[in-house]
Amino acid sequence: MRKGHLAAVSAAALLLGLGLQTAHAADKDALDALRADLKAGPAKNVILFIGDGMGVSEVTVARYYQYGAKGRMNFDKLKFTGFQTTWSLKPGEGPTYVPDYAPDSAATGTMWATGRKTIDERISQGPSTAENVPGKNFRTILEVFQAQGKRVGNVSTAEITDATPAVLNSKMSLRGCQAPKDMAACPTETKAKNGLGSIAEQTVDHLVDVVLGGGRGRFDATGGQIAGGVDNGKTVIQSARRQGYKIVNTSTQLAALTPADRPVLGLFATGNMTTEWTGPQAVPGDGVKAHECTKSNRPSNEPSLPAMTEKAIELLNNKNGFFLQVEGASIDKQDHAANACGQIGETVAFDRAIGVALKFQEENPNTLIIVTADHSHTSQIVAEDSTGTGNPTGYSDNLITKDGQTMRVTYGTAGGPGPVATPPSQQHTGAVVPIWAKGPGAAKILGTTDHTDLFKIMQGK
Ligand code: MG
Ligand code: ZN
Repeated sequence: MRKGHLAAVSAAALLLGLGLQTAHAADKDALDALRADLKAGPAKNVILFIGDGMGVSEVTVARYYQYGAKGRMNFDKLKFTGFQTTWSLKPGEGPTYVPDYAPDSAATGTMWATGRKTIDERISQGPSTAENVPGKNFRTILEVFQAQGKRVGNVSTAEITDATPAVLNSKMSLRGCQAPKDMAACPTETKAKNGLGSIAEQTVDHLVDVVLGGGRGRFDATGGQIAGGVDNGKTVIQSARRQGYKIVNTSTQLAALTPADRPVLGLFATGNMTTEWTGPQAVPGDGVKAHECTKSNRPSNEPSLPAMTEKAIELLNNKNGFFLQVEGASIDKQDHAANACGQIGETVAFDRAIGVALKFQEENPNTLIIVTADHSHTSQIVAEDSTGTGNPTGYSDNLITKDGQTMRVTYGTAGGPGPVATPPSQQHTGAVVPIWAKGPGAAKILGTTDHTDLFKIMQGK
């Protein structure tokens, strides 16, 4: 053995030793972090992230496209993982109801918001014989935390009156009854009939400290006038102003807010907020020719999900703690539209919003972060050499990933392969969804739990 080689071996051994020491320190840090997550809670602050329609497949598609096969995401920094069942109920006579395996976002949201199962379409109300027959109103997790003196926040990229945000601060038989003008479908639930009023009305009546999202058209004059109650004849915006809300409509106005401005109603689009990315809709058979996504679709006056999350945390943080729900809503909406780029851009923005919360948690360890989806969805990665004629892959798109490789994403839960130019709306799927957590009480999500269990888990029970 040559001398030079020996020296090299010693140097390697030394490096290896140092490496081992570093590895031991890293192991200890990792163990300490896990021990912190084993603390029972309840946590002072609770941040719940909901990726609408974000099953394991949606996360994987975003991972491979944006970060490559070996890529890691903020999701991966939450070491406690599990599964959740998402089934809802079918309408019936009760008191027992049979399961509906492919639920919608109203029923699933009601599960973590109230700890109870219900039928599709329903916003924090119990089941009944039919969708248009109101059920019993349930107490929500937002109301529980408000009663504890915590500040509360509701952030979404959808209309803030859409089902997932609505479940926190509203009770309604049909999810579509979002604005005063929509109440024809829920005639017994208006304030004129001594009901709670539309979802927009209930949102501002709850004095939620921070409400950020789309859906301005449900609150201004286009949403119609309130029927009944102290704000009879007013728009919901006017009702919000009377109740002390500061109203903002642009990124710049959002950035300028301080905690003294609470309660805050931020409405940044008439309908759903614009998606971050854009690209072609999938087409039948072998799909669109391989391409990359356009990453600059959201206009600058609409804040990103990470920006809304950061501002919400800043406005909510206080000595009594807070509860915040953050929804990445258009993962689902772009899945329905069979648009892989739209879907991936929303998932990446959602992951960045998780990064914002993780950064806050480093300084504020008494914070429980939970990340999950309300239900699974349609997108799948399939072999890129599959053919539309030989293999019924439905509608497909082909994306050039960070690795420079082609990833074929297929949408096959509506329409099937055929000469159809525009895909019909793809369906939700019924698979269990992943759940991740970090912080006091995080260990309670290990293994397989149900959406209804989250109601207690968030309270440290
Ligand atoms: Mg939703
Ligand atoms: Zn959906």
